[in-house]
Amino acid sequence: MTNNSTNMLLTGDAYLDSLNDGREVWFNGERVKNVTEHPAFYNSARNTAKVYDALHDPALKDKLLLTDKLGITTHKFFAPSYNSQDLAEAREAIAIWQRINYGWLGRTPDYKAAFMAQLAEGHSFYEPYSENALNWYKKYASKCLFLNHVLIDPPVDRSKARVDVRDVYLSVDKDDDKGIYVSGAKMVATASALTHATFVAVNSGTAARMETGRDEDMALVFITEMNAKGVKLISRPSYEFKADSPFDYPLSSRFDENDAVMVFDNAFIPWENVLIYRDVDKCKSFYAESGFFNRYNLQAAVRLAIKLEFCVGLLMKGTDATGTSVFHGVQTQIGELIGLRDLIWSMTTAMVYDTEPSIGGTVVPKLQTAAANRILMTNTWSRVREIFEIILAGAPIFTVSSHLDLKQPELEDTINRYFRGTGLQAHERIKLFKMIWDAMYSEFAGRNALYERNYAGNQDQQRLDALRWANIKGDTDRYKDMVQQCLDDYDLDGWKKEYLD
Ligand SMILES: Cc1cc2nc3c(=O)[nH]c(=O)nc-3n(C[C@H](O)[C@H](O)[C@H](O)COP(=O)(O)OP(=O)(O)OC[C@H]3O[C@@H](n4cnc5c(N)ncnc54)[C@H](O)[C@@H]3O)c2cc1C
Repeated sequence: MTNNSTNMLLTGDAYLDSLNDGREVWFNGERVKNVTEHPAFYNSARNTAKVYDALHDPALKDKLLLTDKLGITTHKFFAPSYNSQDLAEAREAIAIWQRINYGWLGRTPDYKAAFMAQLAEGHSFYEPYSENALNWYKKYASKCLFLNHVLIDPPVDRSKARVDVRDVYLSVDKDDDKGIYVSGAKMVATASALTHATFVAVNSGTAARMETGRDEDMALVFITEMNAKGVKLISRPSYEFKADSPFDYPLSSRFDENDAVMVFDNAFIPWENVLIYRDVDKCKSFYAESGFFNRYNLQAAVRLAIKLEFCVGLLMKGTDATGTSVFHGVQTQIGELIGLRDLIWSMTTAMVYDTEPSIGGTVVPKLQTAAANRILMTNTWSRVREIFEIILAGAPIFTVSSHLDLKQPELEDTINRYFRGTGLQAHERIKLFKMIWDAMYSEFAGRNALYERNYAGNQDQQRLDALRWANIKGDTDRYKDMVQQCLDDYDLDGWKKEYLD
């Protein structure tokens, strides 16, 4: 421990420069030379850069930064929290970052801080690689590095044991004195083209099915730099690339974080990046031990609450523009959306103030609250969209094909007359509804809906985890005891004497 604090936090420009490192990113049949200059990634890279610039804004410094026990100055969620006050301040720091992009980027650098911050106090769990874990914490926190993560095996055959899909699922080929060599693919690395490194592991459901003596070659947790030899990113289509203008696609054109299939082709991972190697038991337990699950739910709920604030604003402006905001039935739906936002935000309050102890004197949100939050969050978006569908109905499709129609003199009078809104000129109304379209119905919106539903694991696993953890924590016994007590109050002869006394 030292009192000499260091500040090596990246600026936006330094972040952008750091991405030009020879990484292998494939898009539209070409290897991308520099992601930050490519039209598929250009604006989302710059919007991510903004969160780095915020770290250097003197007006935000006290709210965003702290100096940890090692003397490292970092974002408040990138360091461990030791009490509720720390978690409350971390929540505020997350919220400041999320408001920069209105909650539309699911994977900003603070997401993986949920895991990485815990390495500071929890590094010894990774013995014999605990020094790697501590070094990664220091490197990560001191710059606020952007890590993506891949946990999921590709959906090529879920009915087989992992070991029987070895040609696809990530496994180790060999090791030597320098490191390990791995091959296989992972689905899907959100934002990976714009990150510094990937955290590679298996999710809790997959780990639970792994067996000692069978799955060692796949029992791996490591971090890889994006430009590691043998690591390839195969990007999905880019909505930013397709977006002709911000006027027509105001969200797709700037918040498309992209998702990529990550392929490891005998990729070299140096030993210093390895956290768990061929250890099935550790793969099964690291997830729960790390506190990642408890903490990522806090980051994700703050992000979603802010996205919902934006949606409330969109819906209110939309109903004002259609003149429907005066109707009782419309107001009830706006009220419900506000209630959803407040519910998610109140989950963050529960997670901050109702905590449980974690590694090394840290505290994390209570497991059951995080599990409940995960189920709530992943089911919220479909209702949000439904409210928009019902309340704004066909209004978003009452539009023109593109901004070019608004520049066409022959159409000027027609558009001005017929496309106006309540209190809005035609071009203002069209602009607003194009944003609503992009938020709810565009290809970008479809991907976002799929993200909100699935990013925290499949729907079955979310519920099975809630059950398993309630069993482990003794909650389900307590619930059953309660019913038994109620049953014991009476018998065939009526109320028992003790019950009525
Ligand atoms: C936009 C988007 C971004 C994503 N980003 C990331 C990311 O950055 N990193 C990452 O690691 N992942 C990411 N994912 C993947 C995401 O984590 C998974 O989609 C999610 O965990 C669900 O897994 P799956 O799609 O493989 O569905 P599956 O696990 O195959 O589940 C589908 C359904 O099949 C059934 N099922 C499957 N397996 C079993 C079984 N063994 N027993 C019983 N029933 C079963 C269940 O009913 C389940 O609901 C992303 C996904 C999306 C859509």
